[in-house]
Formats: sequence, C-alpha cells, structure tokens
Amino acid sequence: MTAVSAHTAGTYDSVADAIGHTPLVRLNRVTDDIRATVYVKLEYLNPGGSVKDRAALGMLLAAEQSGELGPGGTVVEATSGNTGLGLAAIAATRGYRTIVVVPDRVSAEKKAVLRAHGAEVWVTPGLRPVGHPEHLRSVALRLVEEIPGAWFAGQYDNPANPAAHRATTGPEVWAQTGGRITHFVAGVGTGGTITGAGEFLKEASGGSVRVIGADPETSVYGGGDGRIWYVEAVGHFVHPETVEDEWPKSYHTEVVDGIERIPDVEAIRVLHRLAREEGLLLGGSSGTAIAAALRTARTLGPDDVVVVIAPDSGRAYLSKYYSDEWLGELGFPLTTVITDRTVAEALDGVDLGQQPAVVPSGASVGTARALVGTAVALPIVLERKGSGPVVVAEILGSVSAAALVDADDSDPVSAHLGAPLPTAGTTESVAGALARLGTQTGPVVIVHEGRAVALVDAARLADSVVVEQE
Ligand code: PMP
Repeated sequence: MTAVSAHTAGTYDSVADAIGHTPLVRLNRVTDDIRATVYVKLEYLNPGGSVKDRAALGMLLAAEQSGELGPGGTVVEATSGNTGLGLAAIAATRGYRTIVVVPDRVSAEKKAVLRAHGAEVWVTPGLRPVGHPEHLRSVALRLVEEIPGAWFAGQYDNPANPAAHRATTGPEVWAQTGGRITHFVAGVGTGGTITGAGEFLKEASGGSVRVIGADPETSVYGGGDGRIWYVEAVGHFVHPETVEDEWPKSYHTEVVDGIERIPDVEAIRVLHRLAREEGLLLGGSSGTAIAAALRTARTLGPDDVVVVIAPDSGRAYLSKYYSDEWLGELGFPLTTVITDRTVAEALDGVDLGQQPAVVPSGASVGTARALVGTAVALPIVLERKGSGPVVVAEILGSVSAAALVDADDSDPVSAHLGAPLPTAGTTESVAGALARLGTQTGPVVIVHEGRAVALVDAARLADSVVVEQE
C-alpha cells in the first residue's frame, strides 16, 4: 500500500559504509500480462550510482588487506565506467590517486563524473583485439607497471568482485523476499553480480532458485558471435582478430541455468516503458536485464517471485537511450511519437530486413573492385566469419570506385579506406536526416535498430520530401 511515511535509513561513518541496502521495488504496469511477482533491485541508489560500488569496495578492501594497496598508492582500473566511479569515490575518501581507462563509447556523463571525483580518465579506441597495445586492459596494465605503488583492480578476474555480491547482494535479496525468491535475473559483464549473488541464493534456497543471465543478442555469453551492440556495460564483445578469447574468472558459468538473449531494441523499448509507466529511469543494462526478467516471468505462475538487478540509473545515458537524436540516427524507437515523415516512410518499399552490399575489411582491392561494381561507394565492415547483421558501429569506413582506379588488385582494401558513408536512421524524420546530410550526395547507409539495412542515394531521401510537399 502506498502511504507517505517516514523510513529510517542508517547513519554511516563514511560513504563506503553506505554502499548496499538498496530497495526492491515491484513492477506493476509493465507486468500486466504476467502472473508472477517481479521485483527490481534499485542499485542506482548506491552512493556511486551503481551496483559496481559493491565490487569496488570489496576489491579495494581486499587489496588493502593483502598490502597490494597502501598509503600514497594509485588505483588503476579498466572499466566501462561504473567500477571506476565506485573506486574513484571510495579512493577519494582514503587519499588514493585513481586512474580509469575507459573505451571511447562510454557515455560523456560517466567520464564527467569520474573527473569530478578527481580521477584521471584515459580513453581508448574501441574495437581493438585483446592484447592489442591500445586495448583497454593493455593500457591499464602498462600504467600499473609504470607507476610506483599502483594497484590494478582487475574486476574481470578479481575474486573479491563476486565475493562482494555473495556477501551483500545475495543476502539482501534473500532477506528482502523473506526467502520467497524463485528466479534471479542479472546481466553479465564481469559476471561478478550473477556469480556472487546467484551462488549465495542457490545455497540459501537449497538449490531451488533459478539464475537467469541477461545478455545482448550478439554477445558470446549467450551464444552470439561477439559482434558489437549498443547497450553499454554488459555482454562480451569479441574482436575477430582476438586469438584466444578468455572469459572473466569473475563469471562462473555453472551458476547460470539459462540465458536470455536480448536485442538492443527490446532493451530500449523496456527502458522507455519503465520510465513512463513505472517511474523508473534506468540505464541500458537494466533494460536488458528487465526484458529478460519479463520474458522469464511470462512463463511463470502466481507463486513465483522474480528479482532482477537494475545496475544503474538512466541519468548517465540521457544522451543515448533517452535522446531522440541518438535513437533516431540508429533507427531505434524514439521516446516520443513524431508526426513528421520518417526515413522509413520515405523509403516505403525498401526491405528493412535486408543488408546492403559491403566490403569486408580483410578484402583485397581486386575483391573490393568486384564488390563495388557500378556502385559509387560501399561501406567497409569489420570482417567476421559467417554472416550476421552489419552493426553500424562495426563499419570502419568506405571504399569508393574512384579511390581504386589506380590501386593494385593485390593491395589490401584497408589501404584505401575512406571516411564512413553518412547514415540515416529509419525512425528519424527525413527533414532531420537531410539537415544532417547537408550538401552530401551519393550513397547513404540506412540504419534500422542499429544495423545497416540498405544503401540509398541521398537524392532519394531529398526527392521523397519534395513529393510529400506537392
Ligand atoms: N550494468 C552496468 C551498468 C554495469 O556497469 C555493469 C558492470 N560492468 C554490469 C551491468 C554488469 O555487472 P557485472 O560486472 O557484475 O557482471
């Protein structure tokens, strides 16, 4: 029952002590076709704003205890952001310097918060194979070697990461549901949350709690081929040139009973519904996790209790999953209904289930020449074994017929890489897309749900507006 009443939270000696004790909130409207009870654990209410505060504190305390980190020391971590945030906040209170190495696709908001806590932020280019000198982890390890007194938190392989969830997240969920939980759902990044909490909940329930992983559709954890996706901070990307792909030691696969593979578009739809119908503004990985929880709950009965982890808040992603500009350019559903003519409407008749001709990054000029044929230019895409959707983020550039005129057939096409072709998302307005294209002519990559689905001439988009106005 809803009532205005006083709740007493604890009084703590430091920010570190205020980590954890997050509430479970029941979903009421997005579950209207569901008989089971679904609770979301609001991890954004941790002081650093995410579930990773727990792992950050656990790892830092363990390092102090073992003597790896001491007075005047430097905390170094490779992270998609939140672990760095937790570490930076706690390190600040203990007088450590913090250096956080992040991939370039991490949101601007997260980088700003890290800097606000006094952390130094190193941004590395994305799409690098493991072991590459510019790979996140290589950069972090190099810094640790160079800086005296530096300690590498190493959340992917640090046993203190899952241990923190075994000691806190799991017991909290068990107590909060009075032991009634039947299904636990969480996304898998390092695997710390699902492993620690999942192992605890299985033990506490005598093995009856089912543990479900939520994974981006193309991530390898759930059986995808590792191509990139748009929901940050969960899943496991594999660069095709990675020789040996190692999964984090923080992820104990045997704890997981099943994995739901969630496409970005499903996660984003759930996020928008949660904001509008449940009053919950959550981060992308919460969309993935809650989509998986809803799928799971749909198969369950009235006695079942599902608990799903919402790792962080949507505030760190206002420029992404809640920005109609970002969503529209990638062809994802917008937060608002637009009455303007959309790119999809303008291209009525273009099959959005297809993919355009592309040139794989490993091709020779000869092969590229044949593929380009009579086209003006084609996108060059990170080459992968087997066929799968062309994710726009894996388009490295373009190759034009003109650029190949004097090239040698045996040359790698990568030596003739041009700038990426302009894009237009299916859900954005044609007027908006044309404004972005400006005076550019030639092929435009049409993007639907983050994937390239067609190449059309810029004139076709422009003409569609003219037709409309007649
Ligand atoms: N969601 C967000 C927003 C995160 O920052 C992380 C940590 N990378 C996760 C989910 C995944 O949690 P874990 O690393 O414990 O698997």
